Amino acid sequence: MNYFGAIEAGGTKFACAIGKENGEIIKKLIVPTDKPEVTIPQIIDFFKKEKATPICGIGIACFGPLDVNEKSLTYGEITTTPKLAWKNFNIVKAFKKHFDLPIGFDTDVNGAALGEHFYGAAKGLDTFIYVTVGTGIGVGGMVRGNLMHGLIHPEMGHIIIPQRKDDDFIGVCPYHKNNCLEGLASGPSMHKRWKVDKLSTLEMSHIAWDLEAYYLAIAIANWIMCISPQIVIIGGGVMHYEHLLFKIRKDVQKILNGYLHSEKIVTDKINDYIVKPFLKDNSGITGAIALAKKALRQN
Ligand code: ZN
Repeated sequence: MNYFGAIEAGGTKFACAIGKENGEIIKKLIVPTDKPEVTIPQIIDFFKKEKATPICGIGIACFGPLDVNEKSLTYGEITTTPKLAWKNFNIVKAFKKHFDLPIGFDTDVNGAALGEHFYGAAKGLDTFIYVTVGTGIGVGGMVRGNLMHGLIHPEMGHIIIPQRKDDDFIGVCPYHKNNCLEGLASGPSMHKRWKVDKLSTLEMSHIAWDLEAYYLAIAIANWIMCISPQIVIIGGGVMHYEHLLFKIRKDVQKILNGYLHSEKIVTDKINDYIVKPFLKDNSGITGAIALAKKALRQN
């Protein structure tokens, strides 16, 4: 049995784990996201202490944008993040210095997608997307068995969305204001628009949920038409409110309007087509185990 070091690097915390090849998490450590010189050494210590179960690979699923092009001189860097201490920090190199092991590195959402592919809702599928709706909106996924990369990597949370006529919110995306999905439908946009600290204070019948479903459904319909995913997995803090998922499925059907002739879309089978992550809130960290496993295989 192989053991792996897994890191889910987020804007507020780093979740780290020692995990088995089958995705099972043995030990976990949460480290707050401070400056790299404070956060990284704690994780190195955590991995090095595991003498009984030495790790044979490391997976890093990281907040971005990132340089994930292995041929690039700056491969492994966190690039244009507003978290200034991490801007241009090379997180892969930081671990390479201490561990002579294969290191898998990708966006947090591609990591989570790979986790769902190896161990969860996308097992046996080769073209699918994983969406997270929380502090930001991120999308990862696979096309024909390959994690989605390109010029950089997709940033499908920032696709341009038409604002609904009855919505005059200014948007929270510093780049696209009220024109992009993250600006209109991320967790912070809901807090700001409806002036609430907790989304749980918004009753199920509140218009907030209709509007949220509307924006997310437009985005999902667009992604379905662009990528033709075999499944759409959607998680993140905002999706903890399950009534939202029911509304989204209905709105997606309405928007696509019967155009795509798949029973997975036009019938009740949509309940198995647009789904919650099988790994629940562990998609990210389990995805980091999957990235490590993939890196070891490719080594
Ligand atoms: Zn944006």
